[in-house]
Parts: sequence; structure tokens; C-alpha cells
Amino acid sequence: MKFTLKLAERVSQLGTEEAFEVLVRARQLEAQGKEVVHLEIGEPDFPSPVNVVEAAVQALREGWTRYGPPAGYPELREAVAQNVSQEHGVAVDPSEVIVTPGAKPILFFVILALVEPGDEVFIPDPGFPIYASMVRFVGATPVPIPHREELDFGIDLDEIKKRIGRKTRLIILNSPHNPTGGVIPRAQLKELSELVVNSPACILSDEIYSQLSYDTPPSSITEFPGMKERTVILNGFSKTYAMTGWRIGYGIMPSALAKKLALLVINSSSCTASFIQRAALEALRGDQSPPRKMVAEFKKRRKVMVEGLNRIPGFHCRMPHGAFYAFPNITEIGLTSQQLAEVLLEEAGVATLAGSGFGDHGEGFIRISYANSIENIQKALKRIDSWVRSNKKTL
Ligand code: PLP
Repeated sequence: MKFTLKLAERVSQLGTEEAFEVLVRARQLEAQGKEVVHLEIGEPDFPSPVNVVEAAVQALREGWTRYGPPAGYPELREAVAQNVSQEHGVAVDPSEVIVTPGAKPILFFVILALVEPGDEVFIPDPGFPIYASMVRFVGATPVPIPHREELDFGIDLDEIKKRIGRKTRLIILNSPHNPTGGVIPRAQLKELSELVVNSPACILSDEIYSQLSYDTPPSSITEFPGMKERTVILNGFSKTYAMTGWRIGYGIMPSALAKKLALLVINSSSCTASFIQRAALEALRGDQSPPRKMVAEFKKRRKVMVEGLNRIPGFHCRMPHGAFYAFPNITEIGLTSQQLAEVLLEEAGVATLAGSGFGDHGEGFIRISYANSIENIQKALKRIDSWVRSNKKTL
């Protein structure tokens, strides 16, 4: 009898990140001898700091090669708690910190632990595609909350006021924001906190880009009265310390939830690699000049990118306040964001991401990462500009 593999219904709900697919196509083109400028990437192009690499090597030599505590080593949880307390002016106890292999598992585990089938979860739109994917995976309904260009890519509070209700279980915030680079203004967070404090909703505040900001430092909703007990902060080392491949992140959450997350870690990965936790401790406690230099460099690139994009006919780009993404409006070009991203890759040799891959409100925009050298940014801008100028009449 022929065997037919029957998959569980829940995996049909899983979405993906377009960035990985675009990267595969770009690599195919490169294998055919085409040269591609990579502006689709969601990771710093800088090496991990030398002191952090050295700490990992030393930890391996010292034998930090065994299972560790599921919630993370006490020293690292303590260092995270201290940093977050200082940054936000709220007391954080190490028991409220959970360390995971990357920050993504915090998102997954918090949704598993808090959200029931049939619940509603507010997600940013455009937004990191994994939010909607995870919400659907647990049988809940994602409710898109627009980040609007005319609001400088802050959240649409009126939409939240309209939609918040008994079924709203979780509100996901992301500031600085992927894909727009927007930062939710402090006044908006305060107003939202006043709205949420009288509801049963919790908040997941994805602050993975919190250290990558170029204007006013971003605030966290946890700083407002009544918020800490209902908020999970998601953060990590991937973006701040250019450590995407190390896989280490953390969450700050009420300790009753932290206990359940530790169980989810035991049931999935057992723990985060011990020597990597030692390196992460060095990242937090050691020399902070490598991340500072990286931010200064991103700030220069942001200017080159945004000014260059605004010189291209049909492109209009706001100045992003954080992360390393520009999100130009391309509606005047007359193509969908998917069509434009495709021709830019295939015909101009520039890899970008369609805004539509981040939600319906991303249509009309493309995401362009400036985590690449100024030389490559200038090369990409030139290529996009000449593609647009030579195709404009025929579009
Ligand atoms: N949250 C957002 C908004 C992101 O853009 C990313 C990575 O791209 C993550 C979370 C995941 O971070 P990590 O690589 O530490 O799992």
C-alpha cells in the first residue's frame, strides 16, 4: 500500500518570511554570474564584537559546553534585569527574565502560553510576518493595526480604540518598527496604556531594535502605570550586538508567566547554549563601543539612503527613526510592491522586499535595508534610479 504522509492541520497555518525566499532567488542569480546588491537583509552587516567572540572561545575552553538552567544562567538573567531596570526606570527581578535561543521563541512561547483559540491578537500592519503566523498557528485571529505613513509610521490609536474588546487577549507592539523604521511616540504609548489598563489585554512589546535609534530614544509601554504586570518585553542580542547567527534573546515578563516559559523551554530546546550565554554576558557588561560605532554608521547610511531614494522619480521616503530599514512609498511607479521588488531584483540586480509581504497596509511600499556599505547603497540607488528612468514611460 502506498504510504501517504498526513500532516496535522495546524502546520497549514504557518506562514514564512519573504526575506528568506528573496535571498534564495538572489543567490540563484549570483550563481548564474549576475551581481546583486543585497538590501533585503534583516541583519547588521558588521561582525560580532571581538570581545564577545573572545568570551565565547574562552567559555568553550573553560568547559561551558553542557546543559544549563532552562531559564538561563543566573548571572545573565541578573545582568539583563539590571539593564532593563536602568533603561526603563522600572524594577525588574531576575526571576522575570527568560533567556531563549534567539528572541523569536519568546514570541512563540508567549503566544502559546497566553492566547486561546478564538482570541484576538492585535498585530502591527505592516509588521514582522511571524506575528500573524504564530497567532493563526494557535487558532486565534490576528487583527491588523495600521502603522500609517501619514502618522510618521506610528500606530493608529483610533483603530485600536474601535477594535479593542472582550476578545482582545494580546496587543503586539514593535518599536522601532520592522519594516518602516517608525518609532511609536511616547505620547501614543501613554494614551494606549490608559486604554489598556481597563481591559483584560496583555502587551507583547517587541523591542529587538531598541538600541538602533537615531533621534529620540524609544520609550517602552512598560514605563507607564499598571503596564509592567501585563507586559512582556522581547529583546535580544541579534541586532544590537550583530549576533543574529548566535541565537540568543530574552523576554521580561511577570514571574507566573516566566515559570511557564521555562517549561516551554524544557519541552523544546532544554536551554540556550551555555557558552553563548557567557558571550552574551560579556556583550552586556563589556565594552559598549562596538554597538555605538555601528549605530553611528547606520545613522550616516540612513541619510545617504533616504536622500538618494527621494531623488528617484516616483519614490517618496520618510526619514525612519530606528532599526535599519527605509520604507519608501512607490505607488507613483504604477507597479505593485511585489512587481517592483521582482523587477528590481531580476533587471536591476537590487534585492529588496515587497511591502505587501508585511501585511495589506504594506502595499504601495518596498522595504530597503541599509545594513550594507555606503558604497553598495550608492550602487543600488544608481541602479534603481536608472531602471526607473528607463522604464517610466512604458509603465
Ligand atoms: N522581532 C522583529 C521585529 C524582528 O525583525 C526579528 C528579526 O528579524 C525578530 C523579532 C527576531 O529576532 P531573533 O533573530 O533574535 O530571533
